[in-house]
Amino acid sequence: MDQFIVKTHSRFGMIDITGEIRSVLKKSGVENGACYIFVPHTTAAVTINENADPDVPKDILMEMDRMVPLYDDYRHTEGNSAAHIKASLFGPSEVVLVEDGNLVLGTWQSIFFCEFDGPRTRKVMVRFISAG
Ligand code: ZN
Repeated sequence: MDQFIVKTHSRFGMIDITGEIRSVLKKSGVENGACYIFVPHTTAAVTINENADPDVPKDILMEMDRMVPLYDDYRHTEGNSAAHIKASLFGPSEVVLVEDGNLVLGTWQSIFFCEFDGPRTRKVMVRFISAG
């Protein structure tokens, strides 16, 4: 298993980690198979969406904030329930297929690390499974 660090600089953010995942893939030497990406955090997540237009992740974060307000009648005393809820909505993992040594992503797709309770130093775990 490989892992790398993502340092986030604000409370919310979607950080494109496609390049980091590609670097790990190159080092792994896997040509065909699958890539498992896992975020071992309860207030962060991973998702795949468009990064050609940087307004897309901005809009996603804005609407997430409307759906899950920062302050509400939450019971969790740490004060970051909104971040826990958003992390569960997005989920902690993604699977991307690997073909001919490349990640199989659509033209507009990028892999994003989603920060919902930053700034923090985060971890992303990656494992490539070779199809043989
Ligand atoms: Zn908490």
